[in-house]
Amino acid sequence: MSDCLFCRIASGEIPSSRLYEDELCVAFHDIDPQAPEHFLVIPKEHIPSAGAITPENSAVVAHIFEVIARLTTGRGITSFRVVSNVGEQAGQSVQHLHFHVLSGRDMTWPPG
Ligand code: AMP
Ligand code: ZN
Repeated sequence: MSDCLFCRIASGEIPSSRLYEDELCVAFHDIDPQAPEHFLVIPKEHIPSAGAITPENSAVVAHIFEVIARLTTGRGITSFRVVSNVGEQAGQSVQHLHFHVLSGRDMTWPPG
C-alpha cells in the first residue's frame, strides 16, 4: 500500500535502522524507543493489525516469532516483551501489523 508508512519502510522507500530482513519480514529500530532495546518486526505484506490474521496470512506470524527468537538470542537478550497494539484504544498508531520487541529495563504488569 503506497500510503502505508510501514509498507514504505518494508520496500526501502523510507529509510529505517534495520536489524534484519528476509523475503517475508523486516526488523528495524523503533524511532521513539520505549526501552534500551526497542525494535519492530513487520511482515512485508500489508496486514492491518493482529486483528486481521486469517488462515491465509497467519504463516508469516509464526515466521516473525522465529525471527524474534533468533534476533533476541543473537543480541544476547534473554528477557523481553513482545507487544502488538490493535486499534485506537490499545494505542495502535500505524495500521500495518507490527510486533514491538522491548528489553533492557524492568517492566510492569499489567501494562498501562
Ligand atoms: P504502535 O503505536 O503500536 O502502532 O507502534 C508504532 C510504532 O512505530 C511506534 O512505537 C513509533 O515510534 C514507531 N514508528 C513510527 N514511525 C517510525 C519510523 N519512521 N521508523 C521507526 N519507527 C517508527
Ligand atoms: Zn502497510
